[in-house]
Amino acid sequence: MGNKKGVLVLFSGPSGVGKDTVLDIVLNKDKNLQKSISLTTRGIRENEVDGKDYYFISSDKFEDMISKGQVLEYAKYGSNFYGTPKAPIDQWLGEGKTVILKIEVQGASKIKELYPDSVSMFVLPPSMEELENRLRSRGTESEDDIQRRLDIAKSEIENSVDYDYLVINDEIGIASDNVLNIVKTLNLTENNNE
Ligand code: 5GP
Repeated sequence: MGNKKGVLVLFSGPSGVGKDTVLDIVLNKDKNLQKSISLTTRGIRENEVDGKDYYFISSDKFEDMISKGQVLEYAKYGSNFYGTPKAPIDQWLGEGKTVILKIEVQGASKIKELYPDSVSMFVLPPSMEELENRLRSRGTESEDDIQRRLDIAKSEIENSVDYDYLVINDEIGIASDNVLNIVKTLNLTENNNE
């Protein structure tokens, strides 16, 4: 029990804001960070890899894992379920690692209750118009899905005041540097050096 516990970083932002791109840059530049891989019941996108972007699982398997207490938190987003597998998070934190969790707003507030020491960051778009442009240019969602994601984005952005840090993703290099600097400023990665 004498070991220093790791730190949990909650990373949220509306769909299409560029969270994954920011996160990829941050994870590439800071090898001490550990990204939690979520479970989802949604279909895999063309550019995604199972076991890297998500664990893509069936609704039956998702329910089974929930009933066995293997999911730390989960949320329904659109028509799909997303959840955080419990075991790896507890293991990494026990090893003193800094763990980043990409998570939507409801999930982040649940985790904040369970892990009050976690640090939360919210990525904002420069404007709603730009968010809509980004979602459309991604070309992965139907018109209905885009509208649903924009509606969810509005309420998520309203809730962003509850986050510890807000990062605007206007220029991707600046946004990722800001996230890296926050992590450094908090000295979060120190725990990982044996
Ligand atoms: P997407 O379908 O665009 O990959 O993700 C949709 C939303 O689900 C995003 O806001 C993302 O942050 C959220 N999400 C991803 N993984 C998890 C998770 O493990 N738990 C919760 N509650 N939300 C998640």
